[in-house]
Amino acid sequence: MTKQDPVSQNLRIQKTFEALFALEDVREIFRGALPSGLNETEEQAFQNKLAELRGLVSELETGTGKPEILKLTGNLPVRDREEACINIQPIQAAGRLTVEARKALIAYGDGYSTCDSCKKPFRLDKIKEQGIADFHGELAEFLNMDQARVVPGARRGFQAVISSLLEKGDVAVVSSLAHYTEFLSVEHAGGIVKEVPLNEKNIITADATAEKIEDVIRETGKVPKIVMIDHFDYQFANEHEVREIAKVSHAYDIPLLYNGAYTVGVMPVDGKALGADFVVGSGHKSMAAAAPSGVLATTEEWAPLVFRTTQMQGDLTGRRFGIKEVEMLGCTLMGGTLFSMMASFPAVKERVLHWDEEVRKSNYLMDRILSISGSRVLSEYPRKRALSKVDTTGSFDKVAQAHKKKGFFLSSELANRGIKGVFPGATKAWKLSTYGLSWEKVTYLGDALTEIAEKYGLGIQDEHAA
Ligand SMILES: *Cc1c(COP(=O)(O)O)cnc(C)c1O
Repeated sequence: MTKQDPVSQNLRIQKTFEALFALEDVREIFRGALPSGLNETEEQAFQNKLAELRGLVSELETGTGKPEILKLTGNLPVRDREEACINIQPIQAAGRLTVEARKALIAYGDGYSTCDSCKKPFRLDKIKEQGIADFHGELAEFLNMDQARVVPGARRGFQAVISSLLEKGDVAVVSSLAHYTEFLSVEHAGGIVKEVPLNEKNIITADATAEKIEDVIRETGKVPKIVMIDHFDYQFANEHEVREIAKVSHAYDIPLLYNGAYTVGVMPVDGKALGADFVVGSGHKSMAAAAPSGVLATTEEWAPLVFRTTQMQGDLTGRRFGIKEVEMLGCTLMGGTLFSMMASFPAVKERVLHWDEEVRKSNYLMDRILSISGSRVLSEYPRKRALSKVDTTGSFDKVAQAHKKKGFFLSSELANRGIKGVFPGATKAWKLSTYGLSWEKVTYLGDALTEIAEKYGLGIQDEHAA
């Protein structure tokens, strides 16, 4: 296999987009035409487009041609980050679409495309024809829960649960590393968050949770309505004692919401074994789906409350809306988002089985970073996850102090090597994810970081360079 030089590689990527768009233009001709066939003008336009496409294919073959300026609309450029670069941006790694999902978006991008075969009783999760109803069942099974719904993001899953459970002034116990969307879901319902403190290792323990629940009861005289715990938090991606925390909250008769934004879709999640009453996952963060998408799963015990159906009746018309679910506002993901999630699902089910390999890659890269003297890992180590937070105050930040680009030198050195996703300007504490990258890419990353370190005279300790 011959390696393309980067210029012609980028040109080929660009030409691939041009060819894809040319095919979309062909598709547009069919959309404008009568079902009976193309008229003369359309036929001409069709032939012209095909000729253009043939030209593009030949440019692709030879790696030649001039890049057209591709703007989708206004000043919006084509996004080729995943084709042209190694993207280590932590929130994007596991939301990268599978090829099946990208095809689903092409085919089902039109507005309400899930509604082609919607029949009575008119609810998204009941649609049989496109496999939508089955998918809902499979999602519940995948998480080992009883029922599942798709939601526009994990945050909307929190919102549905919180708004069902909390009245004004009620308390939700959350982690000190809780995501802002957990706060907002509580605020939206007029509730109050109370945070469980971290231990010295930045872990939420069951003991600390029990103490917090006791504190809340003592201070407010009320038992918290829910405990929400991130299995892996977004700041350090440390693993928290979720199973034990579920036991603690159940001892107080408090349901547990398992925040799987960083787990559902990348590692096996067994809701029942974890003792979760609610499992929330993010489609666009961890299930290789388009945004906004996610999943909310629950047990037979809680489903009637959280998935309660409308009771409202119009005073003039007397209309009622049957089995539409209040918290879902009827239907949720009505088009390409759902189909992208469904199209990726077989791959997602398979990839969670290879989580240990992803963790090995993560640890390999951490060891490469640790081999650069002065670098530290702020997350728990060895890593149990693909996302990590590192501290390079003692290494790359020293270089930044003297560099004319200051902190931007690192992201720019990385970008020169085709690596993106490091927060521009960050040289002290920064996050990255190796999720879904091949070993070839992970090794390339390790080599690139070592090379940058050596270029600026930072020491490399070989015992860490695995
Ligand atoms: C990303 C994230 C969320 C929000 O997920 P959305 O699907 O974008 O709503 C919630 N919690 C945690 C821990 C996250 O990392």
